[in-house]
Amino acid sequence: MIENLISVVKDHKIIYGIHTKLLQIQDRLIDLLVTGGREGEDYISISLDAGDSATYNQVHSIPRGNVFEKVLDNIRRIAQAGKRGLPKIVATYLLDDNNSDEETLSKVIERCSQIGVEYLRFSIPQLPYCSNGDGDYGLISMKKLSDAREFIQKQQKVNSAPLEILFTDFPHESITFGLKKRVLPCHARWMFPAIGIDGFLYPCCQVATEEFKELRIADLSKVGFWDSFYAYEYQKDRMFMLNSNCKCDRKALEVNTKLRDI
Ligand code: SF4
Repeated sequence: MIENLISVVKDHKIIYGIHTKLLQIQDRLIDLLVTGGREGEDYISISLDAGDSATYNQVHSIPRGNVFEKVLDNIRRIAQAGKRGLPKIVATYLLDDNNSDEETLSKVIERCSQIGVEYLRFSIPQLPYCSNGDGDYGLISMKKLSDAREFIQKQQKVNSAPLEILFTDFPHESITFGLKKRVLPCHARWMFPAIGIDGFLYPCCQVATEEFKELRIADLSKVGFWDSFYAYEYQKDRMFMLNSNCKCDRKALEVNTKLRDI
């Protein structure tokens, strides 16, 4: 159960982050999230992607109903149960052609301000790994992205609510609209190794599938996590990485870019 996992993490004073749509949450998990822990560091990040119910249903392919208000209510329950920053409440918003008009963006900023969201982060959706480039970021046109970016940046300046508005943009040379697949060398295995559903340890979640079996670090049914984690062979790793057709997500791309440029 997630409660057991969070309890263990908190007992060991480990920072945790939960990424969720928050369609439902039990009171006992809320109690756990707002008790103890690391204030200002533990966080819960909710995929919102809409400013009203109609847009939410469209973006999340829900035929009917008012799931959006339910999600907002769940956020409000967490915010009201604890004090600000425990956990940090983050709403994420992936811009696409259907949700990037000014009216919808204004609505989400207003609603998030009202219910205790601390950070609202706008970004661009990325389709799953291993695409060949074209259309990788094609869920929003350049024009709409540019307009949305300008509007959000204006809101960042005028916003006076206790809500921080963030916009994750990309370096010009990098990945916007599929110009770049990845940045090497790859440091992902040291920062966000991923365990695939096949029980293998992989360098990142983008490649945690059979398709990238050459990048497997270890079979965790045979070797422990930490032994696998530190069993690093530079030449082998480099060769497999160069031959791989993997494609970084934005987190990996940003980290690899920053480390490369140090
Ligand atoms: S997708 Fe990126 S982060 Fe993942 S293994 Fe490939 S280069 Fe590394």
